[in-house]
Parts: sequence; structure tokens; C-alpha cells
Amino acid sequence: MKAKSRKVPMFRRKICVRWPSYDVLSQDVNSASLVQNELGFNPLVQFKQNEMLRAYEVRIKSAFDEVKSVVQELFVQRTRSGFACKIQDVVRTRLGITFSQEVLNKFEQNNFDSDSFYCECIFAQFMAMSKEFFEQDPLKGQNRAKAENMFRKAGFHAVGIAPCADGRLAHLISYVLRLPYSLVRRKAHAGALFDVSESVRNWVFIEHSRFRESVPNSIDEPTRYLKIAVYHYSKSDPSHQGCAAHGSDDTKAAEAALSKLNDFRQAIENRFGCGSTVQTLLIGMNTDDDSLKMYIPDKEGKVCLDRFIETNALFHQTTKMTAEQAKVQIQQAVMQCNARSGSSPALESMNELIAWFIENNFSQIEYVNQYEKGCYSDIGHAERFIGIGSGFEEVQLRNLTYYSYLDTVEEGFNDVDVGIKIFTGLNINKGLPIPIIIRCDYDGRVPGSKERAESKAKRIEGAVHSRYTDLSEAGKLQTLCTLRDNTGHQPAERISLACQL
Ligand SMILES: [Zn+2]
Repeated sequence: MKAKSRKVPMFRRKICVRWPSYDVLSQDVNSASLVQNELGFNPLVQFKQNEMLRAYEVRIKSAFDEVKSVVQELFVQRTRSGFACKIQDVVRTRLGITFSQEVLNKFEQNNFDSDSFYCECIFAQFMAMSKEFFEQDPLKGQNRAKAENMFRKAGFHAVGIAPCADGRLAHLISYVLRLPYSLVRRKAHAGALFDVSESVRNWVFIEHSRFRESVPNSIDEPTRYLKIAVYHYSKSDPSHQGCAAHGSDDTKAAEAALSKLNDFRQAIENRFGCGSTVQTLLIGMNTDDDSLKMYIPDKEGKVCLDRFIETNALFHQTTKMTAEQAKVQIQQAVMQCNARSGSSPALESMNELIAWFIENNFSQIEYVNQYEKGCYSDIGHAERFIGIGSGFEEVQLRNLTYYSYLDTVEEGFNDVDVGIKIFTGLNINKGLPIPIIIRCDYDGRVPGSKERAESKAKRIEGAVHSRYTDLSEAGKLQTLCTLRDNTGHQPAERISLACQL
């Protein structure tokens, strides 16, 4: 889905045309600052980090996108002798993966089922990505000390983020907010409509760990839990490319996310008393360019839809400043936001945290400026597979996955229905099957946890195939069951060869 006409502001085009090489920018800090100031680049942008993130995004997405042409190449050669060897040769050189003899035999015996083969390759790429992500930490998301310190200084011991399940928000943690994936809990739902009861259970679990083990900190420290909901919109095509779960109505999307946050806060206070209150934060994300609407809470921590700051505007206001001036400007903007609407200012620590988020987002705004000419060419859906279940921390890339958190097969299938609808346009209508990866995390310290997770994954898999019978029977919907021990940095484990061969 590519937009035929995109509104790209003139200033963005100008920035992209004059981009200097990173070699110049990284010579040393002083010369880099000079180059940035001369060319009008924002002083708070992390250029080297952008370079690293871009290299990862391009490499991983290419690995998935190459699958289609590999399938086409092999389909033409399917009747030739020694085809199994040819398959192995092509997937190894073009996709960097190696199939077992068992898999190769199945494809040869079946006279090459291209739908199964397509999904098998997507699944193999996912497993390779997962292994690299957890074992090599390519995005440095296991390095959490600095961010942990920032949250603690702001008075928070744990952070939960509930974005929309839309694949255009899948890079929210590592790219848009530049947070370490291992520090924040992410649970995505269509329309950011997170499960309040599940969130309460998680909160109880965290508070219990503080009480019994002083993890992540002692119950005596007056810190709180921070819950962030992220809805989204498209400024260039608001009535078509907004949130599908809210009919691309930005106001409805924002109201619904805020309503969930208020319910969560109320639930904690009603059940555990006002001393147990949590802090909530609402963020809106423009999926065209990854800029944010940061809603500033008042002194009591209440969020209001009329009080927000747009990071894109601040980014351009601070471009010709020094880094120190830009930081001061951001903090003042956050403080003045509430004053303008006659509301009480947020707590100073909260202001600092929001200012830090804004500063982090500046790097992503520049990322989109530089690499996407200020606006993504795929402003709509372009996901490569559907992910269902819990976890999927290794998915940190925009439009790679339509991810839907699902705890039980009875609940959560509405989100999967939205995903199937999206993939009917993306894949089925173009002759491609829908690859679905199921994930159930388990706690390796708990006896029987892995076995229960495996049973659950298979239950979800069975429910998926029976809910979408026509697609499944036609071989147009294929699944892979995976597990992961979430107590460390272990990669996903494959528990079944789910291709229906
Ligand atoms: Zn959405």
C-alpha cells in the first residue's frame, strides 16, 4: 500500500538533500557539533545511533522481503532433478538459512507447494532474527542502566506500555522512544484497548516482588508504576490511514486510550487504596513520520486531551540551538503547556521524564527525515507476518509484524480478525499466504511452566485454524508455534513444524 500523493513539508525535503556523511559527523564531538549547527541539524539527535538502527532495519526487512523472489525462482525450477539440493543452495545463499533434510524432502515430495514454502522461509527468518536479537543484542536493548536510572529519578520503578497492535507502532520502544526493550513491558492491542484486569494483575505481581524481594526496588521507596497508552493517527491521510480499530477517527482513538488509562488508575485505587495510585501517560503517534503528541499530566497526574505538546514543532524550534539551549527549551515548553490551559503544572520529575522522551523522539524524527524523506513511503500497512500471543520482544521494527496480545483463545480474537483483514489485502489478494507466528512465554524457574505454555500455544494454533477454516484448508493460512523462557535472554524455541504439508 503505497500512498500516491504524500504531503512532505518543504523543510524536510531540504534537510534530506543536504545530508552529510556520518564519517564527517563522527570525526569528533566538536567538529560534529559544528557541522550540525552550520547545516541546521538538531543538536540533540543521536546520529550514530540512527546509523546503527537503520542498518539493522534494512538488513532484517530485506531478509523477509527476499523470500518472495526466492519462491518465484524455485517455482520455475521445481520439476528439475536434484531440486532438493537446489532449494538448499538457494535459501542458503539468498536467505542465509539452512533447512533440515526432513523439510527439504517434504517440499520435493509435494512437488513444491509454494504457499508452504513461502511460510516456511518467513518462519525460518523469524527464528534467525530471534536468535540474533537475544544472543547478540543488536539494538543494545539489554543495556538498561541509564534508562532505569532516568525512570527511578522520575519516581517510577516499572513501566508498562500499551500501544495499538498496528505494525506501524511495532518500533515504538526501540526507535520512536529510544528505550531499552528489556526495561519496559509492552502489550499491544487493537486500538490500544488494553485489558485493565490483566494490567492490574501485572501490577500486583510487581508490587509483590517489591514487597518480598525488593525487586526492582524496596516497597519503602515512594516510587510508582507508570502506565503509558499510545494511540496513533496519520496527519497526511487522517481519514484512511489512522487507527483501523477506531475507524481512523483520531479523537475516538485518543478518547478510548485515555478511558482505558483512567479505568486502570481507578481500578488500582478502588481495590488497593489511594496510597497505591499509579501514574498514567497518554501519547499520540503520527505514523507518517513517528513524531508524537505528548499529553502533559497535571499535578494530580490527570491527563487531559486538550493539553499536549507536538514533538515535531519543538524539533524545528530547537534546530539552531546548542544542545543545552534545546534541552531548556523542551523543559520550558512542557512546563508552559499546562499553564496555558490554566492547569496545575506536572510534578518536576514528571516534566523531566517527558522532556527526556521528547529529546529521544527527536532522533527518530531525524531518522525519518534522513532515511524516509520526512514521511514513510509505506504510510499504510506493510507487515510481513502476524504475531499472536505474548512476548515478541524481538519484534522492534516498524511494519514487520501485526502483533496481537492474546492470553486465552476465547478473548482477543477480535484483534486477530483485524489482522486477518489487513493481511487479506496485503497477501491473499496478491496470491500470497498469511504466515502466523504463535508465541507463548514461560517462566523457566516454575515447574511445568514450559509444558503448559506448549499446550496453550497448540490450543491457540488449533483455534486459529478452526476460526479461519477456509483460508486454512486452502493452505493460505499457516502457523508456527514458538515458546520462550522469558526469565533471561534466550531466543524463541520452535515447537512444531506447523506447515500443513
Ligand atoms: Zn490502531
